[in-house]
Amino acid sequence: MEVEKLNFMEVKFKALSINESFARVCVAGFCVQMNPSVDELGDIKTAVSEAVTNCVVHAYPKHNGVIYLRCEIEGNNLKIIVKDEGIGIKDIEKAKEPFYTTKPDEERSGMGFAVMESFMDKVVVEHNGDKGIVVTMYKQIGNERLQVNNA
Ligand code: ATP
Ligand code: MG
Repeated sequence: MEVEKLNFMEVKFKALSINESFARVCVAGFCVQMNPSVDELGDIKTAVSEAVTNCVVHAYPKHNGVIYLRCEIEGNNLKIIVKDEGIGIKDIEKAKEPFYTTKPDEERSGMGFAVMESFMDKVVVEHNGDKGIVVTMYKQIGNERLQVNNA
């Protein structure tokens, strides 16, 4: 029988801005086993921040709902899933465009999804059924070192 190589962790927490740093530290702590570089860890934390901040700022305008965070590690592949059950996004492709924001008055620059895409290898944004969205982010850890070693 094939040995199960997938490791995972899951947490859920209230959509409050005070929990943004908790989510960042939580993911960073779990990822340490992948032996990431300081840069890679910084990239991961930034992407998680943007995804979680979006749930806090946009998903629940009327009440503080729940944010679901899951991380999966398989070899040097990291997958991070951030999910909410909020108001959702009508036009996901438009929302992902740089500088698109529905809150320009609150000093939002509309760069959250663009930041996630630049710091991770791949970002997939989908509807969470008829409630909220699911953001799935992928990153391969150790690429930088491979490139340096092969140079
Ligand atoms: P910034 O991230 O630069 O502060 P922003 O949050 O508006 O600004 P993005 O993170 O790129 O920019 O998100 C773009 C838009 O997508 C948001 O303005 C909002 O309308 C919508 N959005 C993003 N995440 C969610 C979510 N979890 N629930 C509902 N709407 C969302
Ligand atoms: Mg944002």
